[in-house]
Amino acid sequence: MKTRLVFTLCVLGLYPFGSVDGRGGPVAVVQSPFTVGSVSAAPGTTVSGTLDVAALGGDTGTNIPFTIIHGAISGPVLALVAGTHGMEYVPIIALQRMRTAINPRTLRGTVILVHVANMPSFLGRTIYYSPADGKNLNRVFPGRAVGTLSERIAETLTREVITRATHVIDLHCGDGNESLSPYSYWITTGPAGVADESRALALAFGLDHIVVDRERPTDQAASVYLSNTAITRGKPALTTETGGMAVVDDGAIALVERGVAGVLRHLKMRTDGPAPTGSPVFIGRNEVIRAGVTGIFYPAVERGRTVAKGSRIGHITDFHGRVLEEVVAAFDGEILYIVGTPPVTKGEPVAMVGARQ
Ligand SMILES: [Zn+2]
Repeated sequence: MKTRLVFTLCVLGLYPFGSVDGRGGPVAVVQSPFTVGSVSAAPGTTVSGTLDVAALGGDTGTNIPFTIIHGAISGPVLALVAGTHGMEYVPIIALQRMRTAINPRTLRGTVILVHVANMPSFLGRTIYYSPADGKNLNRVFPGRAVGTLSERIAETLTREVITRATHVIDLHCGDGNESLSPYSYWITTGPAGVADESRALALAFGLDHIVVDRERPTDQAASVYLSNTAITRGKPALTTETGGMAVVDDGAIALVERGVAGVLRHLKMRTDGPAPTGSPVFIGRNEVIRAGVTGIFYPAVERGRTVAKGSRIGHITDFHGRVLEEVVAAFDGEILYIVGTPPVTKGEPVAMVGARQ
């Protein structure tokens, strides 16, 4: 009778600690339904829906499409977010594939896919900034419930996705104007233990180049970045960069798929998957080189290239072709990304250089 009662409670999602195998021993935990917004997924199912961000202050509001892949037994809750920047297509297309590639019946734990975090930017085809309010979504976390549209998107993601996850990966690529060599950001700030587990996530994701980021805010109320919103809340997190220039690149998509498969294995959410990278290259120093003037940028090097201190990586002209600025590397390093389209605005990035530890 007890076994039957426990089984019934488990099926109903009411028994938190596990079922009993009929001989009194514990077996894998059958889990409760998992809810995001108004959508619930039963154990062993995949369900999709949208988070609605209501209209406010004259804007039209927006929605955030997501999928819950809810395993039959309990385990970590891994949130994978794509499209924080709307012209970063590689992760968006990778998550389209993952929705059907991850089998909820063999998954331990839960995967939340956020397919397009920044719908105004995606549909408006804008780099960096939302066409709705001119803000960079990945600079306004944890967001505000009564704020501009980007701030409300951030608040919705914080409340409905980040707070429900145990681990978070914010999947970026070079923006629509950036030619990029793949790498991850490992954030070393945050509560004890979180940095170590975030490092393990970076290794498991498998991109060899790992930028060590020691300067993220530690204030939960001013976390600024999506992944840092998770870290300041005690959840290991990672930001990844694969692909760029608004190209739907199969090779870069494969890096995302391989990376997520490695993390699912690392978190023991699946038994199979690729091993962690055995040859990590930690980038201990990096610099984003910003345009000193507005004009037309001519890159002189390609992504991934090694550059020497003082060497030219490009130049900026005015709109009549006169050279206004030579762009040079401040130290010996590698080009992690470089702007690959002509427009540059004073103060915006033209390249990022990283140096190995
Ligand atoms: Zn981005």
